[in-house]
Amino acid sequence: MQSLYLAGLDIGGTKVAATISDINGPLARITEPTAKTGTERALGEQGIRLLKEACAKASVNFDSIDTVGVSSCGPFIKQDNLISLVAPNICGGINEHSDLPNRWKSVPLESVLREQFGTVVIENDCVSALAAERAFGALQQADNCAYVTWSTGIGFGLCVDGRLLRGKNGNAGHAGHMLMSEDSRAQCGCGNFGDVEAMISGRNLETQFGHSSAELFNAARAGDSKAKAIADESAKWFGRALFNVTAVLDIGQFVIGGSVWQHHGDWLLPQVMQEIETRLPALTSGVTLLNPGLEAYVADIGALYLVMSHDWLDAWRKRQAWHQFDRLPVHESQ
Ligand SMILES: [Zn+2]
Repeated sequence: MQSLYLAGLDIGGTKVAATISDINGPLARITEPTAKTGTERALGEQGIRLLKEACAKASVNFDSIDTVGVSSCGPFIKQDNLISLVAPNICGGINEHSDLPNRWKSVPLESVLREQFGTVVIENDCVSALAAERAFGALQQADNCAYVTWSTGIGFGLCVDGRLLRGKNGNAGHAGHMLMSEDSRAQCGCGNFGDVEAMISGRNLETQFGHSSAELFNAARAGDSKAKAIADESAKWFGRALFNVTAVLDIGQFVIGGSVWQHHGDWLLPQVMQEIETRLPALTSGVTLLNPGLEAYVADIGALYLVMSHDWLDAWRKRQAWHQFDRLPVHESQ
């Protein structure tokens, strides 16, 4: 029998969101900029503190909560079999030239959360987004599918034969770091030159061209020829990345999320499909690109889904409980 309440954490490079839910849907959600100062324990402690605040908002006794699902940016490593984050946008000690206000080499997330909670399940954010889309969203009938985000970074969550892929440290799906071009001088946060993320992520487009991805794609759509050339290149590399993943894993459906696709996917789609469909029809025929079913709260929903029982799943489906995220008041931690 599952307890009456579950906790969820969505940990990104810029913000952390903490949600408390019952079987009928989320009750309270609190967000705060991601902790990046103090000791390596700061992020785990922030998660616990925000969940406490969310409990207070929802009038739930914090001590009654024993289970937390976590959707987090990666990569992960395992230390004593517990997951630590080695994310370049949180840990300032990974890259010599990092501008982050800490020198952390890793963040011991699971061990700190386990001091408070009996059950802790942590997955990469694209893996939990994929799980949520399969449970409640656009991929409910799909067994060979992927969730892809094209925003600040590029990430994949992968499912083959109905099984989510995790890998030795939970890092399966870091296909944004696939090396694509020897000629590119674009550098990714991971250190690589010419990987997918280096060439087309929102963050790296801005570094390369001095304009945000929104400005670039808007200018391209308005007919600016220089911006159009950059957008065409970006669509090409993105399409090739999807082709490569299709060739390796025989994927049938991709759900594409993230801010770049959300705003410009309609316009980029034909060029991206061109890169997929013109190659090896035995592998690519019938491959479809779908919009997310869950949109803004997919990571929060995914975090809770990771620790849900079948009873909760049924109840959430019956009530479409995920829509309740849209109705929650916005709380930013004081
Ligand atoms: Zn990279």
